[in-house]
Amino acid sequence: MKATLYLIATPIGNLQDISLRAIDTLKNVDLIACEDTRHTGQLLAHFSIKKKLTSLHQHNEKEKTKFILETIRGGGSVAYVSDAGTPAISDPGAFLVNQAHLDNLHIVPIPGPSALTTAFSVAGISSNQFQFIGFLPSSQGKCKKTLQDIFNMNMTTIFYESPRRVVKTLAAIIDIFGSEKEVVIGRELTKLFETIYKDKAISLFDKISQNPNDQKGEFVIILSRTEKNSLAHSDISDEHVLKILLNELPLNQAVKLTATILKKKKKEVYNQALEIKNEK
Ligand code: SAM
Repeated sequence: MKATLYLIATPIGNLQDISLRAIDTLKNVDLIACEDTRHTGQLLAHFSIKKKLTSLHQHNEKEKTKFILETIRGGGSVAYVSDAGTPAISDPGAFLVNQAHLDNLHIVPIPGPSALTTAFSVAGISSNQFQFIGFLPSSQGKCKKTLQDIFNMNMTTIFYESPRRVVKTLAAIIDIFGSEKEVVIGRELTKLFETIYKDKAISLFDKISQNPNDQKGEFVIILSRTEKNSLAHSDISDEHVLKILLNELPLNQAVKLTATILKKKKKEVYNQALEIKNEK
């Protein structure tokens, strides 16, 4: 094989999803770099591939990149695979590839599974435009701010989610987008307990929060763009109204108007306004 860096997508669950080209390339390269040698070792064992492995993960990416590029410059062929799915999508790989570009090395992608495209393909959303934001920020304040930005942007948005946070995230979605917001969830895609939900945020919150088994595994969440003419009152969160008014008016006036518009108690709105001010 000629001196090349191959970026190879691997299955996100079902091992049969690996491509023939991926197997062929993994068999023929001089070296396979991967996130976790034990993890990739199991994948290779399944396909009876015996090959030298070296680890490249987010903590050693700079030193290992040097070594890999030297190997390729010396005439070797190297494959990079992440633990699952497509490298560089919420996974390491981008630094290595960028350095290879800077060195004018030959780079070849071997496409295949990704949780991102797998989930979108079963979402039934006829949109040519979407944004992928990886994982939501881990702090609650930043997470809500990101969801608020998505609400304001009104663009179909896909993100990855962890089992620990899925219920909290659904609660935050209800808070910002309203309980009627349609949400698509792909859980354990391509695996034994694959579940695909497309329902109102409140129904999914009820279903998933009440069933611990539904909270296990790996998740992709999709929020579709809301058509402008269907922006009903229930789609606009109380917090959103309050934030807009707080930006334009003194606190007391914003509280009074929000309470009147939303038919809420002034004291309750006042406390929410203080929280928003403190977040800033
Ligand atoms: N590079 C990978 C890809 O192309 O999909 C993503 C790596 S990212 C570190 C891992 C996250 O992807 C998981 O926490 C989960 O949110 C999502 N994910 C991976 N496999 C999945 C699956 N089988 N079903 C649902 N989500 C999955």
